[in-house]
Parts: sequence; C-alpha cells; structure tokens
Amino acid sequence: MRSALKMLLEVDEHTAAVLDGQSRIANWLYNHLLEEANTLREKFRSTQDPEAARVLYTKRGLRDRVPALKQEYPFLRTVYSSVLKNAALRLSGAIRKYQKARREKGAKKVGWPKFRSWRREWFSLQYDEPWKGFGLEGRTLRLSLGKVLDEKTGKEKQAQVTAHLAEPLPDWFEPGMVRQLRIVKEGRLFYAVFTVERPVPARRPAGRVIAIDPNHKNLGYGVGTDGVATEIRNPWFLKILDRRIDEVKSLRDRCKRKSVRVVREDGSEVWLPSRRWKKLNERLEELWRVRREQTKVYLWTMVNRLYREYDAVFVGDYTPRGGEISRGMRRAMNNQSLIGRFKGTLAWVATRSGKVYGEWDEDGSTRTCCQCHYKVPVGIPPEVREWTCPECGTHHIRDENSSINGLEQVLKTLEVPCSGRLGGQIAVKTRRAWRFDGLGIQEIPGAVGGRVS
Ligand SMILES: [Zn+2]
Repeated sequence: MRSALKMLLEVDEHTAAVLDGQSRIANWLYNHLLEEANTLREKFRSTQDPEAARVLYTKRGLRDRVPALKQEYPFLRTVYSSVLKNAALRLSGAIRKYQKARREKGAKKVGWPKFRSWRREWFSLQYDEPWKGFGLEGRTLRLSLGKVLDEKTGKEKQAQVTAHLAEPLPDWFEPGMVRQLRIVKEGRLFYAVFTVERPVPARRPAGRVIAIDPNHKNLGYGVGTDGVATEIRNPWFLKILDRRIDEVKSLRDRCKRKSVRVVREDGSEVWLPSRRWKKLNERLEELWRVRREQTKVYLWTMVNRLYREYDAVFVGDYTPRGGEISRGMRRAMNNQSLIGRFKGTLAWVATRSGKVYGEWDEDGSTRTCCQCHYKVPVGIPPEVREWTCPECGTHHIRDENSSINGLEQVLKTLEVPCSGRLGGQIAVKTRRAWRFDGLGIQEIPGAVGGRVS
C-alpha cells in the first residue's frame, strides 16, 4: 500500500531562502522546456518531423534535454540533478496526459500545459529515488543541492542544507518504506512529504470495523462489527453560515465592482470597487474563513472519535449519479466536498495512528437487501428513507441497509476469518446519532433519521 506521510519542517531563514531558490530554478526549467515544447509542437504540426515528436511525446524526451541545457545555463547545476530532471518529467507527464485525453473518446478534457507562475505556486522539489539526494538522522533531514566550487580545493562538491522534522515520525515508520521525497511549501510553511510503501495493514486481524454510507442528509450513516449503527449528522452551523454567506454575497454583488475611476500617472486608468463593495467583500471573506475553520474542527472531532472506537473505517466511494438537477443540488455539492474532506482527514489520521482507512464500492448497495441479497430492479428513489424487501419481507432503514452491505463487502476483502458474521448475519443491536455542538460530540441514543425511535 502506497501512502503519503506529510511532516512539517522547521527551516531556518538561510535554508528557506536556499529552498526558494531551488524551487525557482526548477520552475524556470519547467517554463523553459514548455517554451521549447510549444515550438516543437508547431514544428511537428507543419513538418511531421519524427524527431520533434520523439522529444515532445515520449516519457523521457524532455528530460534528455536537461544535460545540454545545463551546459548552456550553468545556474541549473546548482539544483540536485534528479530534482531538476523531475521538472522535465512532470512536463512530459502533463503533455502525455493531454495527448491521452485527446485520443480517448468521452474522456475528461485536459488542457495543454500552461506556464507556471512561481509566485502563485511554489514549485515542489521532488527526489524520486529512495534516499538518493536526501537522508534522515533522527529528526534531521539532509537535502542535497547541486554542485558548487569548493574554494579551498578548487574542486566541485555537492552542496547541501538541513531542516528538522517538527514532530516525531510515527511508530510504524521504517526507512526501508520510503520511495520518494517531495519538499513542498504552503503559505510560509515547508513540509517533507514522504511516499511510503507499507505492507497492507488490512492483512492483520482487523479488530473493530465500521462501514459508512455517505449521503446528502447526513455526513454519513455507519454500521460497525460491534453491532452499533451511527448516524453522523451534518454540522448545524453550516446551514446557518451558508445562509449568511448567500445574503452577504447577494448584497455585495448588487454593489458596483467598478465604481471609482483612478487615473494613473502614465495616463492609464483603473476602476476601483466602491467602499461598500469592499466592506461587504471583507465580511464575506471573514465568513468563509469561519466556515473553513469550523468545518475543520468538526471533521477532526468526528474522525478522532471514529478511530477511538474503531480500528478500521471504510467509506462508500459515493459516485454521484448525474442527470437530474434538483433545488438542493448546490447544497448537495457542498456536502460532496465535505465528504471529500472527511475522507482526507480519515486517511491522514489513519496513516498517523497505524489504523486502517479504505473505501468500498457503493454500486447497487442501496437497492440490494442485506438479508436475502434481492436487488430491487428499478432502484429506490432518494426520498424513500425506509422500505420493505419484496422478497423476504425485511423492513429496512435505507442508509442502514446500504451500510450493512458495505460492511459485508469490506469484511470479505479484509479476509477476516469467517465468524458467522457474513451473509446477512450482521445485526444492528443499538442505534445512535452523533451531533456536533461546536466543541464536542453529543451522543443521542436510539436516533434514526433525525428522530428518536
Ligand atoms: Zn430481502
């Protein structure tokens, strides 16, 4: 199993400046090669020159240009060689993705690569071979740069910088697991992202497992091997905040964005927004900030609680059915991104704590009876929250039935020794709902679908 381990770095001012410089050069190379690629593309279009196609469309075509460019632009040599080559590989990757999407019918459109602005996005430094160009001693991370001239000996030597991991590595971490290292910068913070290859943790006895069915009404509804069904409610503050955001946004949009004309010294003119527009815009940004912050606290609280009670959490892969666009669509979209972040948080906490996170295939899970496996042919409309199986007569709570199907599927793939739980044997003993009150979780026993049964 391949996963990413992201560690915050403590970086001194000098190292930060060096890393910025390295990132800038890699970014420059990317843009320079893109310029070459654009020329080659034109050339290939008009002449069908196979050499142009080879450089442009093969995996290593652009990477093989790097040694010659190093001769021409000696400053490139100050960056570690594989990091530099990786910038070229990334561009080739983007071009090949574009090509592939063009050839495949019905594939999602991918644009031709664009020039990258270093100011807008820091170009990450990728060391793509295990422990080549980087090393770890305790919490000290050593990064190799390019070659510099040693003034004493007159010979070239490999320059390097060090940074420190801001927190200890997780218990399960072993150097042999590391495949790659990427240095990224977000805002003013640097991170080391290790790509690690770990034995699939699911092979060990899985302990307590829960399968969650994400949906529109709640964040999700889960059934665990402990026989407990949990409804994870959406945070109430989202509704209130979203309403407030809509109000302020519509007020702002009624103001003129171009209201004050300013003539610059050189005679050109710009339009500035009115004071009211600016004020409302600030208010809106503040509301967005609060929304982000509160959502984060909500997700962390729910995820930590889940992993306190379960060793493995599996979430339905939630394939949105296209077609009908309803009034609730916009809100549902919001929930989709909330579920996306929920999954991200689960994966993050699982990686850290040595627990398991995974997804299960939701296809057909709602309309399949978890007791007798009868499939309702036409499916069950979303507004139907409870139904009775026409084959065996079992009465189902919609989300609970689908979670049980998920749990059964998960337990099969986990190869948990068959203990009689499989094949319609998962029984829900108790039900509860988790409601986030802004600080912690309030547990409501016996609650289903917003009511207490
Ligand atoms: Zn049935």
